[in-house]
Amino acid sequence: MARRMLIAGNWKMNGLRQSLGFLEEIRPAAHSRRNVDVLLAPPATLIVSAAEIAGPVKIGGQDCHIHPSGAHTGDISAEMLRDAGASYVIVGHSERRADHGESSELVRAKAEAAQAAGLVPMICVGESESDRREGKAEAVVGEQLHQSLPGSTAYVIAYEPVWAIGTGLTASLDDIAAMHAFIRSKLPDGATTQILYGGSVKPANAADILSLNDVDGALVGGASLKAADFGAIIEAAP
Ligand code: PEP
Repeated sequence: MARRMLIAGNWKMNGLRQSLGFLEEIRPAAHSRRNVDVLLAPPATLIVSAAEIAGPVKIGGQDCHIHPSGAHTGDISAEMLRDAGASYVIVGHSERRADHGESSELVRAKAEAAQAAGLVPMICVGESESDRREGKAEAVVGEQLHQSLPGSTAYVIAYEPVWAIGTGLTASLDDIAAMHAFIRSKLPDGATTQILYGGSVKPANAADILSLNDVDGALVGGASLKAADFGAIIEAAP
């Protein structure tokens, strides 16, 4: 079965209720692309309202706790995200790995919690600039996969080179193609698992990146904050 395209927006810690007009604006692009799934991960405060007006757009969380409930002040469980209207959750984003010291073992536990709650985890992996400079990119990503993947293969992978996130730098098409093929070769269900690329995807580079064989979509940060840019990326998917 052919893998569907998935264009996902990660708003990070951006967005107020007034920002949700965005969903109206991208609806024509989301509707017109029948072979492309569109996902928006707004901050948790907006998930309920976003889900009510999302139409064809899927809604995701940006992180979840490993437990379904309990004494964990400030945390949000996968079950809560699901209850709020999410169907996906991003886990292991490099900003969580860096800012909150999240290990790959914790990311795996979060992915398992997401699956148990009926969410699809989007598991992020990616090497640092020094890893790539030192020729260790595949080794680092391979190890992250090895430690972060749950037993059940109901997940999406996002390959995001850390040095390309929010910097305006993108990996070269050759490097993206090589890393995606490498990741696919390491996955137990490689033929059917969606692998997204993330790292400064924008309207100007989306068509080239999304046309690569092993790229099944994009995880978009900065350019997902503007409906016109995000809509153009949806339109750029083959
Ligand atoms: C991200 O945070 O997942 C991301 C890819 O950000 P940006 O598109 O801004 O590089």
